[in-house]
Amino acid sequence: MRIARFSIDGNVAFGAVEGTAPDALVLDIIKGIPFADFELSGTKVPLSKVRLLPPVLPSKVVAIGRNYAEHAAELGHSIVDDQGRPDAPVVFFKPSTSVSGPGDPIPYPSFSQEVHYEAELAVVIGRMCREVPRERVKDVILGYTCANDVTARDIQLSEKQWARAKGFDGSCPLGPWIETELDPADLAVGCTVNGEQRQLGRTSDMVRSVEELIVHVTEAMTLLPGDVILTGTPAGVGPLNVGDEVAVTIEGIGTLTNKVIKRG
Ligand code: MG
Repeated sequence: MRIARFSIDGNVAFGAVEGTAPDALVLDIIKGIPFADFELSGTKVPLSKVRLLPPVLPSKVVAIGRNYAEHAAELGHSIVDDQGRPDAPVVFFKPSTSVSGPGDPIPYPSFSQEVHYEAELAVVIGRMCREVPRERVKDVILGYTCANDVTARDIQLSEKQWARAKGFDGSCPLGPWIETELDPADLAVGCTVNGEQRQLGRTSDMVRSVEELIVHVTEAMTLLPGDVILTGTPAGVGPLNVGDEVAVTIEGIGTLTNKVIKRG
C-alpha cells in the first residue's frame, strides 16, 4: 500500500494512493493513523486536488553516512581502517525542522557556496522500538520513501559536526508517499537535476543493509513511530543551483521532486 499525507481544504489526512496512471491517481482517505489499526474510509479524492505533505513528521531523522563504497571514495574516504576492518557506520541527525515534502522548495542556505543533492532510500519506522534484534526488524518498519539528504558540502568540510551542513531548513525533503510492501534489498536509487541523470545506484551496493542499520541505531536510541532512517547515498553527488529542479526516484516507490530557490 502507498500511504500519502496530504492537505485538502485546510484539513490534513492520510490516504491510500490508488491507481497507476500518474494523472489519474486517487487517495482513499484513511480513518485513523497508519501507525495504529486503521481502515480505508472509501471516500476518495483525486491526487491532483490535494497538496501532498511530508509523508511523516518524524521526531528525528537518523542518517547514515558513507554507506556506499563508491560514494565514500568520491569524497576521499575509505570504508575500512588500515587493517582492512570495516569502519563503524557514520551516524548523524537531521532535525525535524529540516523535513519538507514533495514539491516544497529547497531554500539555498545563505552561509554556503556549495549545496549538494544526495538521493537516499528512507526507512519509516512504524512503532516505538529499541534494541531491535535482526529478526524483528521487519516488525518495526512501516515502509519506505524517497529522501534527499541535501548537504552544504563546503560547511560539512569546514565544521567538525554536520548539524548546520545537513540540518538547515528544507534540507530533508521526503516523499512522495510511503510504500509499505517493498523489499529494500535491491532497488534502483537515482537522482536527476533538470532532467539530467546524476546518480544511479542500487541498494544492493549498500555497505550495511537496512536490517543492520536498524539494529545499530536502536542499540543506542529509542525510535518513535514516524521516525526516519536515511540509508546513505550512492556515487555521483554534485552541486545544486538556485532554479534547479532535483528529483529522487526509487524503484517501487516513486519520484520526489523539489526546486531550489533563493532563501528569502
Ligand atoms: Mg547522505
